[in-house]
Amino acid sequence: MKALYLHIPFCLRKCPYCDFFSVTRTSPLFQEFPRLLIAHLRLQAERATAGPFSTVFFGGGTPSLLSPSSVEAILAEVDHLFGLEGEAEVTLEANPGTLSLEILSGFRAAGINRLSLGLQSLQDDKLKTLGRLHTAAEGRQAVGWARRAGFDNLSCDLMFGLPAQSLPQLMADVEAVLSLQPEHLSCYGLTVEEGTPFEELQRQALLHPAAEDLATEMYVALHERLGDAGYGHYEISNYARPGRACRHNQVYWRRQGYLGLGPGAASFSDQGWGARWEIPPDIDRYARALREGRDPRTHLETFDRRGAMAETLYLGLREAAGVDEARFRARFGQGVAEAYPAAVHKAAPHLVYENGRWYFALSGWLLYDHLIQNFL
Ligand code: SF4
Repeated sequence: MKALYLHIPFCLRKCPYCDFFSVTRTSPLFQEFPRLLIAHLRLQAERATAGPFSTVFFGGGTPSLLSPSSVEAILAEVDHLFGLEGEAEVTLEANPGTLSLEILSGFRAAGINRLSLGLQSLQDDKLKTLGRLHTAAEGRQAVGWARRAGFDNLSCDLMFGLPAQSLPQLMADVEAVLSLQPEHLSCYGLTVEEGTPFEELQRQALLHPAAEDLATEMYVALHERLGDAGYGHYEISNYARPGRACRHNQVYWRRQGYLGLGPGAASFSDQGWGARWEIPPDIDRYARALREGRDPRTHLETFDRRGAMAETLYLGLREAAGVDEARFRARFGQGVAEAYPAAVHKAAPHLVYENGRWYFALSGWLLYDHLIQNFL
């Protein structure tokens, strides 16, 4: 396992569209959390072979609520217990509403070398609709501070398909984000998740995300504009300048092993056909287990050959690079078309086979949820 994910399950306030596991910072466990995470790292080091890590990702939640000294202590422990490669990509997700130049300089000095900024939009009315705590001006200021703090690998999140958002409004937002010259962009369409306040509002007909046709138009317009601006559309939702793709997320899409710590995190072993564990999203249970020296993770699934094949396609076809036929055949003893003749037939012409690789054309990514079902 060469990748480490650390889930920091605290937010200042819950955004009404979000279904990631997090609690508010007022939780009594907020102060203790870095110590719990370090205890968890030590427990894992005794039991699992992992590292040295080539990527570390502080995700959440809002990892930027951690103090720089906590981040430094956690990374020092990771390096001490498992090893951290010299060129390791070390990402921290940051909420613009939690930052200052001093904090960002502290994160940079602590060893964070990639910042993923939850901008979402640079239009105040859209940020308000999303229930975000920051303003557009604070978003811009956070980017300026990040640059001054020495971050030269910056990713910005941008959301589209927002209630009452027109295509020209989205494109104005895109221009505003492009003017900040991030190295990487993650662009997500708003989806209304089960159990969120947005779902309740939608039920009451008080929330109307973009209609499917408009969301499709927006997706295509983003692809074209960001392509023109020099960003490669290297995964369904992700764009990068050359050489700036997120190496950590590529581990997930390529079905390589990773260790995930913190409540709500998953781990994956690529031994055999693969197995996955999760740490239940319950911070009290997590704290109890670690105080008692118990491993908080639970076994989720062990894959058989068929399951591993399906997941290789499910994840691999998210990437523009797609799935390598020769590697697939070497691993599973069958080529993709041989293993899934009906699914490949149904996916044509959106699924392309070229130069020994299977990949989705843009039209295939637009139909991804529908087309991929045939492989599962
Ligand atoms: S800050 Fe991020 S993780 Fe926290 S509630 Fe909002 S969207 Fe979810």
